[in-house]
Amino acid sequence: MRVLQAGKRFCEIELGALSVVMLLDGETVMPVECLLRPDGTALEGAELAGADMRDGQLHLPVRAFLVRGPGGCLLIDCGAGKAWHKALGHLGTAMAEAGIGAQEVTAIALTHTHVDHVSGLVGADGGLAFPNALRVLVATEEITAFRANPRLIPAQMRLMPLEQGDGPMFGVTAVNAPGHSTGHMAFLVEGRLLIWGDLVHNVVQFGRPEIGWKYDDDLGLARASRLALMEQAVEAGWLVAGAHLPGPGIGRIERAGGAYAFHPVTRGY
Ligand SMILES: [Zn+2]
Repeated sequence: MRVLQAGKRFCEIELGALSVVMLLDGETVMPVECLLRPDGTALEGAELAGADMRDGQLHLPVRAFLVRGPGGCLLIDCGAGKAWHKALGHLGTAMAEAGIGAQEVTAIALTHTHVDHVSGLVGADGGLAFPNALRVLVATEEITAFRANPRLIPAQMRLMPLEQGDGPMFGVTAVNAPGHSTGHMAFLVEGRLLIWGDLVHNVVQFGRPEIGWKYDDDLGLARASRLALMEQAVEAGWLVAGAHLPGPGIGRIERAGGAYAFHPVTRGY
């Protein structure tokens, strides 16, 4: 792995025959009360030491990832479009900065169907933001939620179910990571980089993986998936990447103090 190029809103790394481009849709904040102890109460005081904060609130970057290979370009998640916080919806700007045209995207796979991952599928004009993406892969458990979202009607004809072990493109494998949502998925790229959506919302969860997020549908199942995949990543020596991880959203995970620590990749990595 090496960093090929990086800019304000993107970072591209080489992974064998493929490359992975992190694309920053934007950065927003969420209330500190979103981080929950296992008993469902909010973290406070010294427990928030080391948490990724901005102006007294939790910093929440929103990222998507593009896997580029000889067979095409797979976009994993699409950002928030203009459907959520005002600071988000800049996926197109990030792609332009990375020198990637929307028409180059040949398939889309979603980690899940929450607003900040799916909304950028449709542009401001109401049309498909990625017209050449002939397949939009969504976990079977979340097909109904996708179909129920009126904003996504233009993409419904391209919808295809996604299951554990499926390969949305050569070198990419879907991995179940349920809990944040029922069909939440991660993607293993070249057997070396695990890209997840919302397994982690703040770095504090590496040091304390038992800490949940208010919007985890099933806090216990999300915790179990987080622990299992962090442990598997360490054991296997995988890099990890996530929609809400600190810049550039890709890094190494290591054991630290009975739990884990995240070390973002840097230019000189
Ligand atoms: Zn999210």
